[in-house]
Amino acid sequence: MGILDSKIPSGPLADKWTQHKNDIDLVNPANKRNLDIIVVGTGLAGGSAAATFAELGYNVKTFCYQDSPRRAHSIAAQGGINAAKNYQGDGDSNYRLFYDTVKGGDYRSREANVYRLAEVSGNIIDQCVAQGVPFAREYGGLLDNRSFGGVLVSRTFYAKGQTGQQLLLGAYAAMNRQINRGKIKAYNRHEMLDLVLVDGKARGIIARNLVTGEIERHSAHAVVLASGGYGNVFFLSTNAMGSNVMAAWRAHRRGAYFANPCYTQIHPTCIPVSGEHQSKLTLMSESLRNDGRIWVPKRIEDAKAIREGKMKPTQLSEEERDYYLERRYPAFGNLVPRDVASRAAKERCDAGFGVNRTGQAVFLDFKSAIERYGKEQAQIHGIGNPSKEKITELGEGIIEAKYGNLFQMYEKIVDENPYKTPMMIYPAVHYTMGGLWVDYNLQTTIPGCYAAGEANFSDHGANRLGASALMQGLADGYFVLPYTIGDYLSHDIRTGTIPTDSPEFDAAEKDVRDRIKRLMSGKGKHSVDHYHKELGHIMWNKCGMSRNAQGLQEAIEEISALRADFWENVRVPGSADNLNQELEKAGRVADFLELGELFAKDALDRNESCGGHFREEYQTKDGEALRDDINFKFVSAWEYKGEPKDAVLHKEDLVYENIELKTRSYK
Ligand SMILES: Cc1cc2nc3c(=O)[nH]c(=O)nc-3n(C[C@H](O)[C@H](O)[C@H](O)COP(=O)(O)OP(=O)(O)OC[C@H]3O[C@@H](n4cnc5c(N)ncnc54)[C@H](O)[C@@H]3O)c2cc1C
Repeated sequence: MGILDSKIPSGPLADKWTQHKNDIDLVNPANKRNLDIIVVGTGLAGGSAAATFAELGYNVKTFCYQDSPRRAHSIAAQGGINAAKNYQGDGDSNYRLFYDTVKGGDYRSREANVYRLAEVSGNIIDQCVAQGVPFAREYGGLLDNRSFGGVLVSRTFYAKGQTGQQLLLGAYAAMNRQINRGKIKAYNRHEMLDLVLVDGKARGIIARNLVTGEIERHSAHAVVLASGGYGNVFFLSTNAMGSNVMAAWRAHRRGAYFANPCYTQIHPTCIPVSGEHQSKLTLMSESLRNDGRIWVPKRIEDAKAIREGKMKPTQLSEEERDYYLERRYPAFGNLVPRDVASRAAKERCDAGFGVNRTGQAVFLDFKSAIERYGKEQAQIHGIGNPSKEKITELGEGIIEAKYGNLFQMYEKIVDENPYKTPMMIYPAVHYTMGGLWVDYNLQTTIPGCYAAGEANFSDHGANRLGASALMQGLADGYFVLPYTIGDYLSHDIRTGTIPTDSPEFDAAEKDVRDRIKRLMSGKGKHSVDHYHKELGHIMWNKCGMSRNAQGLQEAIEEISALRADFWENVRVPGSADNLNQELEKAGRVADFLELGELFAKDALDRNESCGGHFREEYQTKDGEALRDDINFKFVSAWEYKGEPKDAVLHKEDLVYENIELKTRSYK
């Protein structure tokens, strides 16, 4: 076991980033023109990084498996992006954003990184506004804010329920400017299948052209992986169907340590699973918890009657409802962090109070908000003694203006009108805090290989607060990497173009071709989806919202056996020489089958509960996560050694000099 050096600059917390930027080496503009950077992934993290590198003068090649950067999973982000602008005057500051994020992550993140994140958060909003991102505005013209979980201020900037889409259009426009200038060469419909190391440094990738099937070599002086998260290891998640771990995992196989794989976020407000044939889950944005109240019936007989369709939720009076988050956490109420809200929903459903056919759903109800807004509107419009119907009509108008597209989406999927009857929601896999281990410069343990956005582990500890992923991805891409990568590249100004005909490229290409051949030559018993679903069942049942040692041990054995069966029996039809989506899926599922086992091993090793990692053996008498700061205040970073069971653990000790470690409480 080794100890990792995170290269955190010395000095006071608030000065570290400025001082670091002053200290690191720069590359002059003429030399930048001779340096090449590969960016794998063109979501918010990769798109913003690529555009900024090219703007600085580097030659950039981008890769994504979609037909356009515009289709990255980032486009799905709904609710918003955090920044400590304090437009509301409600007491926000860089320190509070930093504090909330560290506490939200259950004291398992790196102070220096999180402070930097808070520090640059305001710049992100300015940058995006300059690009024309249409954030919601208040009457007076200032940008509007709403609240997300785990905080007591309003710092979330949003563009209706389409924040990710609007931000991505901004980053994509910035990329396009550089594509037009010839500074970015975009390889869409290309999948990175391996990382190439020359003399121990990342010097390129092997990619497959997904349309022609051709295997290509691409070289560069540095490689940035911004390839997103791995929630789809659970098969069912809110992630885009294509989201996968391949780029990060292939780098892991080449020597990049994988950090905290077991830290997964289960989001409390998703549309519940409806059956075995489903392949995707839908998120109902956390922003809805600004106005929606979560409840189940107080009496178990009422829950049963609702499940059996003998009673409607609207028939229950206020006294007959248990607003369990408001009851248990009066200070934060419905806006407790996601891990807390998810476990509380599971607790109620496990106790028999679930409200849908499967017993795995709770209500998210807008009745109070509709009434409150309706009365306010009546007052504003001078309507004296408004009828109940008028209040409802006016209130629904406000809810529609705020969340209309989310309500429409719910109605389309569930076929129930959420203005009239409460939504039914249940937790689902949503985000992965784990990822490639990176130091303060966002460099992995492979020199010249960087990781950004959801693909790295850096800022969220054991639980990410809502609206912080977009902030982190854009901080990494627009404001951190452009500085830190220059420091590394300043040593490469005389290197010249990296050739792709070296033995290292030959060997990496051969590995890729052999692996594809192996995938194509399975005995053909079961489809790729069959294995993916089986893996998802194991992950959800034994590594999901709560975990215990026995289940995790079983998961390790079951996943290992499933992987062996996959390589022997998988069916991949068609050929490798042209478009073949089953082959693409097979490559991704093969990696999930390794990651899944490492995930369980990591969860088994961490004998404590923190944030999204809930070990049943370690809980308070109220059922809250019980951390062990004496033995587990570290980042787990796993080194690849062949089979996941042989992975070697390295630790980065987390040092808290500015925040006192406390029991996390939202009461
Ligand atoms: C439904 C939903 C709603 C969300 N809402 C919010 C929100 O309101 N606020 C918030 O802060 N966060 C939100 N999140 C989280 C946030 O959207 C993601 O964490 C974030 O967008 C990830 O951005 P990224 O750039 O790291 O990765 P992604 O956007 O996932 O992009 C990954 C990129 O990598 C490419 N790629 C991957 N593998 C390869 C490969 N092998 N070869 C080539 N290319 C590859 C893909 O093509 C893609 O371009 C939400 C998430 C979901 C699922």
